[in-house]
Amino acid sequence: MRNILVFFIGILIAILPATAQAPKKLSSSEAFHALQKLNFLGSALYIAAHPDDENTRLISYLSNDVKARTGYLSITRGDGGQNLIGPELRELLGVLRTQELLAARRIDGGQQFFTRANDFGYSKHPKETLKLWDKASVLSDVVWVIRNFKPDVIINRFDHRTAGSTHGHHTSSAILSTEAFDLAGNATIYPEHLSKTATWQPRRLFFNTSWWFYGSRENFEKADKSNMLNFDTGVYYPLKGLSNNEIASLASSQHLCQGFGRLTTRGSEKEYIELLKGDLPQDENNIFDGIDTSWSRVKGGAAVGDILYAVADNFNFSDPSQHLPELLSAYTLIQKIEDPHWRLIKTGEIEDLITAVTGLYLEASADFAYSNPGNSIIVNLEALNRSNAQITLKSVKVGNSMASEKEIALAHNTKKNLEIEMLIPEDAEYSSPYWLAEKGSLGMYKVDNPDIIGSPETARKFFATFELEINGTPLHLKKAVIRRYSRPDKGELYQPFEVLPEASSRIEDKVIIFSDSSPKQIPVTIKALKDNLKGEVQLCFSEGWKVDKEVIPFEIINKGEEKTLIFTLTPPEKEDENYISPIVKIDGKELTKELISIAYDHIPTQSVLLPSEAKVVRLNIQKAGEHIGYIAGAGDKVPESLEQIGYIVHTISPSDIQEGSLDKYDAVVMGIRAYNVLPELKFKQDLLFKYVHQGGNLIVQYNTAGRWDRAYENIAPFPLKLSRDRVTNENSPVEIIAKDHALVNFPNPIEPKDFEGWVQERGLYFPSEWDPNFTPILSMNDEDETATKGSLLVSPYGKGHYIYTGLSFFRELPAGVSGAYKIFANMLSIGKDKVDSENDIKG
Ligand SMILES: [Zn+2]
Repeated sequence: MRNILVFFIGILIAILPATAQAPKKLSSSEAFHALQKLNFLGSALYIAAHPDDENTRLISYLSNDVKARTGYLSITRGDGGQNLIGPELRELLGVLRTQELLAARRIDGGQQFFTRANDFGYSKHPKETLKLWDKASVLSDVVWVIRNFKPDVIINRFDHRTAGSTHGHHTSSAILSTEAFDLAGNATIYPEHLSKTATWQPRRLFFNTSWWFYGSRENFEKADKSNMLNFDTGVYYPLKGLSNNEIASLASSQHLCQGFGRLTTRGSEKEYIELLKGDLPQDENNIFDGIDTSWSRVKGGAAVGDILYAVADNFNFSDPSQHLPELLSAYTLIQKIEDPHWRLIKTGEIEDLITAVTGLYLEASADFAYSNPGNSIIVNLEALNRSNAQITLKSVKVGNSMASEKEIALAHNTKKNLEIEMLIPEDAEYSSPYWLAEKGSLGMYKVDNPDIIGSPETARKFFATFELEINGTPLHLKKAVIRRYSRPDKGELYQPFEVLPEASSRIEDKVIIFSDSSPKQIPVTIKALKDNLKGEVQLCFSEGWKVDKEVIPFEIINKGEEKTLIFTLTPPEKEDENYISPIVKIDGKELTKELISIAYDHIPTQSVLLPSEAKVVRLNIQKAGEHIGYIAGAGDKVPESLEQIGYIVHTISPSDIQEGSLDKYDAVVMGIRAYNVLPELKFKQDLLFKYVHQGGNLIVQYNTAGRWDRAYENIAPFPLKLSRDRVTNENSPVEIIAKDHALVNFPNPIEPKDFEGWVQERGLYFPSEWDPNFTPILSMNDEDETATKGSLLVSPYGKGHYIYTGLSFFRELPAGVSGAYKIFANMLSIGKDKVDSENDIKG
């Protein structure tokens, strides 16, 4: 029992920081809503695969209309997606999307959970997904979340019965949920959980269906709905002045990095859920029908209900502090409830309500947003009672430091400020997302402490504990230490207080390509995270590489200031892929992390510490041509990558394409999805083809197939039909089928090893049909699928060449994949008969 309690304190603390940035100060209608939720003892858990999969209409409906504890378990943090608002990708995108989910939950009233599964990119089938995810571990995490959150009902976003019809992660989330529903109540399954929590059997499992899964609205009209419940998720909440669907739109509009900002919607809207397991409710509109969700559910709860239902029936909106005596009596009774699960949840809820009705404001703000282990910080405390209740601040401590002043009477609306000096222990852990502390695998994060699995973010470590007596009832309330400050252009801001190392280091370019044996300068930027920083930097490298200096000493006066030091790195003669990493040495400590700050207005600023390193690649690459015209599409880093191997890249916009304007380029390259995002390109097709006909070289990277492409019957000078064919396994075998073609021979001979070390996928949206003028160069396929030959197609046209490729160069080049560079250089060089001399290649 004690262990369960420990876990829940853990989970509550983990949830705290999300709400602890800007403190919630409840209006009386919000306090009334909190009271209604306090009076509801039932829980629902929604399960899907990614941030943005969740149906915020249903989550908001369950949380705000039904008043249930409502959770969203997203199997992944969405690392594999795109980012429309900034540079964060991969694990950093996962951090951003985690915070966007928390922001959405602050609006719709839900709680957020995750597993250790990593969003490794698109997956066609759950079979592939569950291999990369380590199914047993992810299933354990789902069971763990169920055993701790204890939902009465679980709702799957996706259908576990239709593998292959959607993203493999989607179907897998439903498969895992369905299996976990059967396992969570069985003590022989994952018995290692049971020293920390207890088994739990949810009562019902549903699938959140809709017409979309039936192909059309007409089909769904006709479908048998005897096994379904339905809710009006457009219900209006007068106390909020908002419809449920308006709240849902506001919540899903937090997914800004995925471009989910959208209009709010209003009006009646039906949502359907299909029963998969458990008993069918009698009432088709009540998911909790037949489940006791009243205070009588728990032993000792009926007496609490007697008090709190009466308060709800006669709630005083103009002066809710009138209810303080009843709330304090209920609080005392809740402390005697034996069931630790509900005791802990309801204690937290009633503490919030008591705080709200007394207008009690408690805050602990550090004098700086971060500090280092072993340092002391000043924490400014504020305690204010805005009611007529008798409130005494018996004592207050921050960390282990107790304020000397005790027994302070908090008189009505008279602010009490205190200052406490807090020591950050030498062994304090750095504030960084816990799931990134160690290197995981492609499909899984590594988390050493099993107790924190499921938590959305790293638990805050520093709290102020206020020991209070309110009208004679003792209460202790905890507030996470934050940093409150203002900026003239932003107003008041709250930031989590963080513990960071004394310094961080960074190499700006994460991949550095050496296309010959010339040395390159490597700038290493040191950021001071304390005042008067003095130390030295060493650059670690691998055998065969050479660095000009053993160490470079440095001194930085001010916290927050940066200094850039230059090492010169000489590559080996032969081809090699390796890593370099700076070590900052200060007072006998070796600091090896880069600090990445993720700052947007819709989320609390995130500090992420990752190993400071850069990939270095020595390539023996030949190329012909020099000047490349690049038409940027949806955004990729291909131009920067081409510059690394010595090309001069000129960015051109569709309006720059005029008669003869392209003739100066050795090749013209379309960025990814250029035809999808640049509608004006269709007026330039004739000029582009004319450029090719007169001897130019046009390379078109992937575009998504869709409605738009009918307007582009002439995407190529000869017929070409795009499809959704993709090869998602980056290790899928590749066969060179046009062995004698220049594309695989000149100037770089392409060999099987050039298809090793690729990342995330081979390619996507390959053409499925093409004119006989095209030569397919490669053949590839994912396991158990037929081979596709559309990944790289080339056709002569007039004196020039047209190339269409769905190969994922936009992923491979920035990742420093040697083979991808060679194939790209060959594409750019096609039609030329001699390579540039060594001297010309240098960038
Ligand atoms: Zn998804």
